[in-house]
This record gives sequence, C-alpha cells and structure tokens, in this order.
Amino acid sequence: MSAITPGLVCAHHHLYSALARGMPAPPKVATSFQEILEQVWWRLDTALDLEMIRWSAMLGALEALESGTTAIVDHHESPNAIEGSLSVIADACAEVGVRVVCAYGVTDRHGPDGARRGLAENERFVKAGGRGLVGIHAAFTCSDESLRAAAGLARDLGVGVHVHVCEGIGDIDAPRRLDGLTRDDWLLSHCVHLPTDHTLKGTILHNPMSNLNNAVGYANPARFSNPVALGTDGIGGNVLEAFRLAYVMQRSVDVTCGPDSAWRWLETGWDLVPEARADEVTWSYDPMDPWHIAFTPGILPRQVTIDGEVVFAAGRPTRVDADEIRAKAREQAARLHARL
Ligand SMILES: [Zn+2]
Repeated sequence: MSAITPGLVCAHHHLYSALARGMPAPPKVATSFQEILEQVWWRLDTALDLEMIRWSAMLGALEALESGTTAIVDHHESPNAIEGSLSVIADACAEVGVRVVCAYGVTDRHGPDGARRGLAENERFVKAGGRGLVGIHAAFTCSDESLRAAAGLARDLGVGVHVHVCEGIGDIDAPRRLDGLTRDDWLLSHCVHLPTDHTLKGTILHNPMSNLNNAVGYANPARFSNPVALGTDGIGGNVLEAFRLAYVMQRSVDVTCGPDSAWRWLETGWDLVPEARADEVTWSYDPMDPWHIAFTPGILPRQVTIDGEVVFAAGRPTRVDADEIRAKAREQAARLHARL
C-alpha cells in the first residue's frame, strides 16, 4: 500500500445532471421516486441542447478528475437533442483528458420514434469507433419491442447494455421483462428492488448516495452473486466518497462487515474499464488502504496520469482551464434553468 492507486472508475454517471444544481424547485413537492423523475429529471433532460450537454460534460469530467476518477461510465438522455449527443460528451471528456464510456438511454417515453432515434444514436456512435454501450433507460419506460431491439443491437455491435433496473418499485417487473435478454456484459444500475434470487446476468451498479437521496431504499448489493461496481448516478464523480458511503451503508445492516467488500466493488470498475488500471493517481493520503480510507474524509489527488499524460497536477487540470469550465457551465445552467 502506498499513496498511489490506479485511476478510479465511476461505473454509473449522468454527466448531463452536472447542470441540475440550483435548478428552480419543482412546481410541487415530489412525494415519490416517480414524481422526482417526472418533476425534476424528465423536465431537465427534455430541455437540454447540445451546447448545454457539452458544458455539463466538461464540468462533470473536470469534477471527476479532481476526485481521482479517470474513467466515467455515462448514461445519457436528451430527448430533444439526441443525434450527435454521445459524440459531444465523448469530445468534452477527451478535452479534459478523462476516459468515458457512453450510452444513450433508449426509452418510449417520447413515443416509438424517440426510442428509434435513441437506438440509432447508440449505433451511430459505436459504429463510428466511439467507446460505448447500448443504453436503455429502464424496462418500465420501454416497450418489449424496444427492449428486444436494444439487446439485439448490443449483441450485433459486440458491446454490453447499460440499463436502470428496479431502482424504484415502479420498475418491479424488470426481471421478468429483461429475462432472457441480459448477458454478462450488461450493466444493471441500482437493483434496489431486485429479488436476491433473480436470474439477470451482468454487473450490478451500486449508487448509495443517489438511492438515499431518492428515498428508494438500500440495495444491499452484498446479497447478489453478480459482480458489483460503484457509481454516483450523477451526483458528482467522487468514487472514494461512494466507497465510504457504500461501506457504512453495508455496515448499517451487517455490523460484522469490513470495508473490504465495498473496496472490491470499487475495484470492479477496473473490469468494466480496464484501461483505467494503467492510469495513476497520487493521493494526499498514505496509505490508500480500505480501512484507512473508510475513516479519512477529504482525501484528494495530488497528481493524475491518464494514458501516460499528466492531466492533473498541483490542484489544477493541465489541459483545460477549470475556472473557464465553471464559468461556462454556470452560463449554460442559467439557460437550462430558464427553460424549466
Ligand atoms: Zn442513473
């Protein structure tokens, strides 16, 4: 153990949500997860254009880098700016120097044409050489036809599927709807209400802070035999923070557990984005041992090397101007909030 680790992987992110902070309060207080979706996220994603997507991705990538996260597995939706959106996100992350695996979340919420265009964006991006997966929003917003089409496209392209599963009780049918479609290269985000004896294949993505914030319950991912990885679900890119919370959440239901299993979940990120193993983060704390990190707040990277290039040093990104990104993101957030 030392102060150096490979680059961390955020296994479930929504870069577009970087501009949500400070958005006006919804018309009425959301009283359920379904209402949070309807009154916050589905109003926000509908209002996004490509310029907003660009600066939300720049800000999200910057914040990931500032937290020692060198690879982001992103899940994107912008129903009024679908075509080209994944390339905008990939380009923004490349500019900052952070790795990203993109997916567009196919959904029938905006009719079958919306689902078709989402599917086409995934196909366009991957066929153009982009590092991507096929995205599905969630079974409960998709027709069986769209679910089958997305699974088939992923198989044809030789990539996995990135999908929300049983985040809230409204998606309780997901295991039945996805039965026979999932494979080991699928990423199943949340799985809070997924039965322990389910038959879905793939890696389960655990997002403890988001689950608490949405009051959907505790996924207790230790109960699954699937691999488990850690994400933020769009609440920043700090995976060390996700690890610390994952540990105490597990501890809250099992006083015998140590931080080792939450740390293994963090390490699963390197199976999803193996390139990040070669990245190097020098931290402000030594040793970077799970038992130390679990009880040490405020650990920050001193230097980050991605793909052999130093992209963060002395508290600043080396390729971009952090102040400029924050200023531009604020401008775009104001435009976005004015549309809500
Ligand atoms: Zn999510």
